[in-house]
Amino acid sequence: MAASYTGKVLTVDLGTGKIEAESVPDEVYERFIGGLGLGAWWLYTRMPAGADPLGSEAVLGFVPGLLTGSGSLFTGRWMAVCKSPLTGGWGDANCGGTLAPAIKRCGFDAIFVRGVSEKPVYLEVGNSGAVLRDASALWGLDAMETEENLVAAFGAAGGKKRPSVAAIGPAGESRSLISGIVTDGGRIAARSGVGAVMGSKRLKALVLAGTKPIPCADRAAVKANSLAFARSVRDFPLPPTGLLRLGGVLLRKLPWNLRFDGFLFGAVLGRLGTAGMNRLSVEWGDAPLKNWRGSERDYPARASRAIDPARVLERQERAYHCYSCPTGCGGLCRVDGRETHKPEYETVLALSGLLLCDDLEAVFRMNDAMNRAGIDTISAGASIAMAIELAEAGVLPKKALGDLDLRWGSAAGAEALLRLMIAREGLGAVFADGVRQAALRLGPAGGQAAGAPGAAPGPAGPAPGAAALEAAVHSGGQELAMHDPRNDPGFALHAAVDPAPGKHTVGCRLYYGMFRLWTRVPGAPKPPLLERKDRAFESGPESARAAVLSSDFISLFNGAGLCLFGSLYGADRLRFFETLDAATGWRRSPADYLEAGRRIQTLRQLFSLREGIEPKDVVPSARALGRPPKEAGANRGRSVPLEALARGYWEEIGWPEGRPSPATLARLGLAELEGRHGR
Ligand code: SF4
Repeated sequence: MAASYTGKVLTVDLGTGKIEAESVPDEVYERFIGGLGLGAWWLYTRMPAGADPLGSEAVLGFVPGLLTGSGSLFTGRWMAVCKSPLTGGWGDANCGGTLAPAIKRCGFDAIFVRGVSEKPVYLEVGNSGAVLRDASALWGLDAMETEENLVAAFGAAGGKKRPSVAAIGPAGESRSLISGIVTDGGRIAARSGVGAVMGSKRLKALVLAGTKPIPCADRAAVKANSLAFARSVRDFPLPPTGLLRLGGVLLRKLPWNLRFDGFLFGAVLGRLGTAGMNRLSVEWGDAPLKNWRGSERDYPARASRAIDPARVLERQERAYHCYSCPTGCGGLCRVDGRETHKPEYETVLALSGLLLCDDLEAVFRMNDAMNRAGIDTISAGASIAMAIELAEAGVLPKKALGDLDLRWGSAAGAEALLRLMIAREGLGAVFADGVRQAALRLGPAGGQAAGAPGAAPGPAGPAPGAAALEAAVHSGGQELAMHDPRNDPGFALHAAVDPAPGKHTVGCRLYYGMFRLWTRVPGAPKPPLLERKDRAFESGPESARAAVLSSDFISLFNGAGLCLFGSLYGADRLRFFETLDAATGWRRSPADYLEAGRRIQTLRQLFSLREGIEPKDVVPSARALGRPPKEAGANRGRSVPLEALARGYWEEIGWPEGRPSPATLARLGLAELEGRHGR
């Protein structure tokens, strides 16, 4: 029986041109699963502490998961892993499409790249090996033009099957700290500044064309699990999309939180895509509005038609699925005569509600521009919102503003600033690296920014200082996603304690209720179907246990290479643990698998600690925590007790003050790493 990994990774040194296939011991998979875990193990053991994230010692990894290609569902996700130039600690970004199986079909469980090439190159990998090719003619092209050129060149050279391509656009080339890596005509691994790391190496693209079989211990058993899940998915009749507003209003007005059901959520995703949740989210209080200072009252239905799911769907020409996905939340649309991806939930809200903008065509155009440039829509939207707030407050000098129409609701102003950010011109150069860098450039500590990666001088005029720092909404340097912790405080907790801060895909109370871990894991808390809303803000052993189990489960899921949306159907319905056993030939309990997830989470934390990140200092911006509380709207009067929640999480996971204790490391079999993560 062959387990579902190849046991080999491809390593490339762009400085020397050396390309090698290296073996990975079985023990690494048994302890760290693969995917995110393999990435964390490789970077922790191969990258020196204190390496410049944009320098030659930095390693950038492309990792599919343990279950990718096994016949398991939802395995079309891959991750980019690195030291984040945005946060200074562990960095990762997740993306769907076709790249994950393409890496495995080349015969590898991961591709790791280090060094800096003298000239732009791309890496081509196929059945017979890997080669670096000159990419000088591609440098300067956007990510989609790059993909089209590389696919055409591959075909012209006799390639038969369309290869999978991952590329950076101009934002990655210019090392924007909010740039990502683009695949499949506009899907993007957007977070942590992974595009800047690729750009710093002058690596324009990967072209993957392998056709090797992907191993699996018991493919028939994996497929039987997949089939059983597919048969169990209930086809909920969806109400007219207009009723989603009513649902959001109800959720806002009810005194309880509901435990959501993954089948219903999956039905919304499959029919409408992630943007199907936007209207409900705004009404409920999940969506941050007006740079986190507004409420649904600032964005009433008559002035926010851009977020209506039906209007987004009207523009869709066809739906699509990531590899091996039964849900299929993706869609291709046509805007201004060009095919473009349907914008996601996060994108629509970051470019509409966060800016109080109601121009859906502009959202589509900006989404397309960012997919081409290779820039994170969450971070860019947050940066534009910050600029608008500062412009409206009169603290951005008129000379710097020029004729930019930076006002709440002005799509023209947002689009113009985005163009400048991508080109790093004028005021765009100030905001091109996200909100923390912009605050440093604008504020009294502007001198520090001059030394920061990709730094640009601030505009002439009086320093806006405190206003800029306050308007920069992030956690640990990464812009917060479009989920308000004043509605679900779990988003603040995980955005603070996760080694890659600021992300929304690392845990919250809502997700935990959908994982249904209590059906498989002894002692896992089962949230009630209805829970008083104020209970969500209480710390205690049960909520800490749920939060830590969420981290364990999501880390494990990312090790296995599955889409987070798959996890929301519930581990039992997905037969996730059974599928791990079938694919690997291992026979492990769910608790044992979750311990591997905790090992991954702990190793990522050790990486960040080694880079000098102080966990207590990673705190989401005050306004996202309700400090002071809002006076109106869905989340009025609420403050997140972050310190108590974080204390509970750290106690439960065994990381006093965010630092894994010797006992924790010993229990996880990581004792050899004790003392190697600094203080
Ligand atoms: S649910 Fe959506 S993002 Fe997840 S794998 Fe399926 S198509 Fe991709």
